[in-house]
Amino acid sequence: MKFPTNLQKMVPHTTETLNNERKKANFPIRDMESFMNGEKNIKLQEKALKIIRADPEIFDQRNIYFMSRNEKLEHSLRQEKKVQELLREKKIDANDISHIYSLLDWPSPFDLSRGMFIPTLEQQGTDEQKEAFLKPAKEYKIIGCYAQTEMGHGSNIRSLETTATFIEETDEFQINSPTLTSTKWWIGSLGIVSTHACVMAQLYVKGKHIGLFPIVVPIRSMIDHKPLPGVTVGDIGPKLGYNTMDNGFLNFNKVRVPRFNLLQKYITVTRNGTVSRPANINPRITYGTMVFVRANIAANMGRQLAKGITIAVRYTSVRRQFGESGQPETPVLDYSIVQYRVIPLLAKTYAMIGMSQEFFSEYEKTAALIDVGDFSKLKEMHAVSCGLKRWSSETTLYGVDTCRHVCGGHGFSMFSGLNEFFNGLYPNIIWEGDNYVLAKQTASYLVKSAHALRQRESVEVNDTTDMIRHFMNIDNQLTPQQLFTWSGKSAQQIAGDNSVLLDLLSLRAVSMVHDLAVKIYRKGQSWDDSSVPSQGIATAHSEYIVCLYFSRHIKKLSSNSPLRPILDILFKITALSFLTRNTGELYSLRNEAALTRAQINGLESEYIEYIKIAREQAVPLVDALGVPDEKLNSSLGRYDGNVYEDYMARALNEPLNRDGTGDEIRKRFYQQYIGPTLHHNEAQSGAKL
Ligand SMILES: Cc1cc2nc3c(=O)[nH]c(=O)nc-3n(C[C@H](O)[C@H](O)[C@H](O)COP(=O)(O)OP(=O)(O)OC[C@H]3O[C@@H](n4cnc5c(N)ncnc54)[C@H](O)[C@@H]3O)c2cc1C
Repeated sequence: MKFPTNLQKMVPHTTETLNNERKKANFPIRDMESFMNGEKNIKLQEKALKIIRADPEIFDQRNIYFMSRNEKLEHSLRQEKKVQELLREKKIDANDISHIYSLLDWPSPFDLSRGMFIPTLEQQGTDEQKEAFLKPAKEYKIIGCYAQTEMGHGSNIRSLETTATFIEETDEFQINSPTLTSTKWWIGSLGIVSTHACVMAQLYVKGKHIGLFPIVVPIRSMIDHKPLPGVTVGDIGPKLGYNTMDNGFLNFNKVRVPRFNLLQKYITVTRNGTVSRPANINPRITYGTMVFVRANIAANMGRQLAKGITIAVRYTSVRRQFGESGQPETPVLDYSIVQYRVIPLLAKTYAMIGMSQEFFSEYEKTAALIDVGDFSKLKEMHAVSCGLKRWSSETTLYGVDTCRHVCGGHGFSMFSGLNEFFNGLYPNIIWEGDNYVLAKQTASYLVKSAHALRQRESVEVNDTTDMIRHFMNIDNQLTPQQLFTWSGKSAQQIAGDNSVLLDLLSLRAVSMVHDLAVKIYRKGQSWDDSSVPSQGIATAHSEYIVCLYFSRHIKKLSSNSPLRPILDILFKITALSFLTRNTGELYSLRNEAALTRAQINGLESEYIEYIKIAREQAVPLVDALGVPDEKLNSSLGRYDGNVYEDYMARALNEPLNRDGTGDEIRKRFYQQYIGPTLHHNEAQSGAKL
């Protein structure tokens, strides 16, 4: 199919509009990219880009929107094979892989081996087990998955039914799936790829139930990849998205593995069946992999929202609707309601990326302490990682939904780059703990900490307990003026001072924690009945932590850095979006803490004003997020602004439109279905139009 090429050029052209937006930059874009993404990541991304550009036949993703599930799976397996070749040829190393897949922007069927199997072995295997399983996994001589969820249970892992029973006579464990619902389900990298599974099973030794522990089980032959005796394994079938991953099912019929395969860093079962655990062990440690994965999700979500917001900002900057007669129509981003939908998401993208850098370094400190047997930071890390995983996945997913909605009809096209992307992001709100369940974990830590402080028990010192301790002000050391730093100030003064905004965010969270603690500890409300307020508490706490960490990240810049003014504005937009979302929370703060009507109305106006300022920098700000066209895979978000030309080119490439194969399909459809409908009267009467 040919499309006319001699059409009039639109004036002003979208490329020109986008370039004019770039000229408005009041900060150095490259420096901003370096500050937000880090030079190391920029270099790794450049290297990954070179690799995928050098081999378009393997790595080009433009055509994925036309592919069936099996075609996608095959395309990604081909890519993984190439990645493995590059690894063996030492053209890339293990660090490059995540950058390559970040650009391809879909999962590899090997991902769970890298993302969960290997980390579990690292965290919970002994040195001998690392030699036996971790080493070959890192060399891709075996491929593994993390098999926890079952058809019948996901959130409530205590009720998992798969058993691992010690057989003393043969020095083995017998792995069994006693019921249909005990079949492992949803397991990534399992359906067609894995040779081994790290199976979470209920451990039984000498008839005694010990608890849930990970055990490595070979599942496919290392010779012909066929399932081993007693193992039934397959793919669970089509899903909303994430279709290059072979999520699978796995059923064991009394499969035996050596005792050695039970990961024994935190539990030992001896030859004669004596069970022991190291002293002072924190029972949460076996969930260490989940904390790691949640921390990773929280850290990665900002990079994902960066893609969505880049597309939305560039497109709404060049998309024109209505306007003054005789003038070019108005870019839709100039409408305040469009700004109101887009700019806070841009601000939150920056906040999320800034937060994640601070948070991940906290995670690394915790992991290093755990390695030397110090679990003192694990409780808070667990609570914060649950909260931030929940907040960042929800903000990103629904943020991307807003991005596609704000693109109007074209947002609904796969060529927007936002739909396959949205579907792939979706499981982030479910896996590694459903978000609603995670909120309860975070709230429980906060409420219990508040109660312990009230009882004057010793409570570990960290950002969360500091926040509670400060506002509980148990011994009345602080005056109301010291506590309620906003009182007597105008909205402009409040919004102008980042530390006051942080105070407000933290009091908002502490006040919710206090209310729930009273209900639970004084009025006897059950934890289950507390799950509704727990959602609000987890959100308020995460929003405080996001702003706290983002502000710490900004403070790393010198006070006269040219990046600071706009980052400061993005901080304020983020904080004000949280504070003004439900102003009832601010009205209902108690006594001197409550804000006045004038302050609250004023904060809403300040919020809109800051959004207007940031709108002027929106295109430079998304440029500085450094998301290349390969990752965007979008007509609407292209760096050069050739939106409509690219959109048309992609439509012409639709299989139904292609010369040759498309002609054949259309001809067949016409002959079999369309023609007989159009001409059925002729067949009866012989009449022609
Ligand atoms: C694409 C994808 C990939 C996955 N990959 C893996 C993998 O590789 N390995 C693996 O082991 N698992 C994997 N999972 C499973 C995932 O971790 C679980 O789906 C998730 O933990 C939720 O559990 P569930 O599906 O059993 O939901 P359920 O627990 O059945 O939840 C159903 C509903 O009940 C609610 N609910 C449950 N309990 C409570 C409660 N106590 N209080 C209030 N509400 C509650 C939930 O919020 C939810 O709305 C994957 C899932 C998906 C979608």
